[in-house]
Amino acid sequence: AREPRDRLRVAIQKSGRLGDPARDLLSAVGLTWRESRDRLFCFGEGLPIDLLLVRDDDIPGLLTEGVADFGILGRNVLAETGLDGTAPGLEEVRQLGFGPCRLAIGVPEGWDYEGPAQLEGLRIATSYPAITQDWLRRHGVDARTVTLSGSVEIAPSLGQADVVCDLVSSGGTLRANSLKPVETLLESEAVLAAPPGRPEGVRGELADLLLRRLDGVRRVAD
Ligand code: ATP
Ligand code: ZN
Repeated sequence: AREPRDRLRVAIQKSGRLGDPARDLLSAVGLTWRESRDRLFCFGEGLPIDLLLVRDDDIPGLLTEGVADFGILGRNVLAETGLDGTAPGLEEVRQLGFGPCRLAIGVPEGWDYEGPAQLEGLRIATSYPAITQDWLRRHGVDARTVTLSGSVEIAPSLGQADVVCDLVSSGGTLRANSLKPVETLLESEAVLAAPPGRPEGVRGELADLLLRRLDGVRRVAD
């Protein structure tokens, strides 16, 4: 049986785009940790709220397994792992306002794009096959996804795929690969995610406290 915990755990990205803003947000609500930036685990000092520094891809699993109580990750990752069955049922508790981007279909610049039907039978390179297939199904389009964990935009020029479905912020990466965005599948930003329900006992009280404080700083920031 799992040890009952009396400390709250928040999983955030160790590095990458969301790591620093997530840490800054938690600092802004008054959390402090014994310095261990290079480690997986940061022990909370003022309040019994610890940090897990991990890859964003691991956060849904940590929440599902009950190893972490909250996670800060992109809505895109939460949506993908919710749809592909690896971490179903997690909840988006708050949207956090940083890390904005969208998941978009990118086609070769020269195409005259007229709608989803044009994607029929094509190969779509993506790191988000479940969201992509869900969107294709809802538009009645049958197309194959080629799942890549990175460098998705280069796939069309390599002949590995016809089009891409990838995260876009400025559009610069698509443009640099002679692609243009034509459909938005998901508007994303960093979110606070959690398993359904409130943690039991003292962790539930800590969770409420953390949410109240987050709402406080978000109101000040807005
Ligand atoms: P990790 O090493 O943790 O697996 P990663 O390479 O998967 O990192 P990052 O590139 O740091 O992830 O992106 C983290 C999140 O930042 C994305 O899932 C997305 O929600 C958000 N994001 C915002 N803008 C962009 C963008 N232009 N490209 C990719 N992700 C973006
Ligand atoms: Zn990742």
